[in-house]
Amino acid sequence: MDLGIAGKKALVCASSKGLGKGCAMALAEAGVDLILNARGQEALEDTAELIRSRYNVHVETVSADIASSDGQSEVLERAGAVDILVNNAGGPPPGVWSDWGREDFLSALNANMLTPIALMSHYLPIMIEKGWGRVVNITSQSVKAPIAILGLSNSARAGLTGYVAGTSRQVAPYGVTINNLLPGVHDTDRIGLLDAQVSKSQGISLEEVTKERTASVPVGRYGTIEEFGATCAFMCSQQASFIVGQNIVLDGGAVNATI
Ligand code: NAP
Repeated sequence: MDLGIAGKKALVCASSKGLGKGCAMALAEAGVDLILNARGQEALEDTAELIRSRYNVHVETVSADIASSDGQSEVLERAGAVDILVNNAGGPPPGVWSDWGREDFLSALNANMLTPIALMSHYLPIMIEKGWGRVVNITSQSVKAPIAILGLSNSARAGLTGYVAGTSRQVAPYGVTINNLLPGVHDTDRIGLLDAQVSKSQGISLEEVTKERTASVPVGRYGTIEEFGATCAFMCSQQASFIVGQNIVLDGGAVNATI
């Protein structure tokens, strides 16, 4: 399907690996020029090079912490105006409710709620002026069904979801859509780390943790960054212009809910 976005320009935050990388690859396949961001330079350059070698698009990189105000300023200055914004950052650490104090919440809220809001605040007026824009926020299935050990994530994502619910309706009349993608279990470094922590805390093998987690997914496997990216690219397409303020769960059926 021609997504009708060839020649557009996208900023994909936190995109050297994992879900952000999947989104960047799929947007590149649709002909979108990219600004990629991550903190670590090496993986970022490797991903940029991979995309340049596969697709005929322009790819720039900005190595910076997107959750810091200096990092945001650098990314925004280097990126300039964009048509598509994919918000993403690393997720907060797991734990139990009694582990977390004010500083932990501030850090999670900053990375997973206030940072995407800051980037939207910057880009929405530019998109409105152009009469076209797409924002996709990578959040989590925990928005639909809480993941107890990820209480910091549950809290920050809920805040961002509330912001998007109202703001997306305010910008929709100007051809700008904002939607959230809610990943369930996907095969990325983060899930590998979380699985390793469960293995350590429960004293069971990593293989067993993976088997148990897989069994909790009706599709019977972890998701891939390619299928996640394809959904992101579709949400940025011309065809998706009537999809506003939605929370699309990509979880292989893991959230057991009727709606
Ligand atoms: P991942 O495989 O660990 O990749 C994270 C990417 O983000 C890397 O490129 C990393 O590069 C970059 N990054 C992290 N913090 C950053 C920062 N402050 N500034 C700029 N770049 C940053 O993670 P993932 O699994 O793709 O997860 C992405 C998001 O989806 C996270 O918020 C996670 O909580 C959420 N999520 C993931 C899953 C899943 O199944 N994978 C499920 C639910 C929610 P550097 O480290 O070099 O910066």
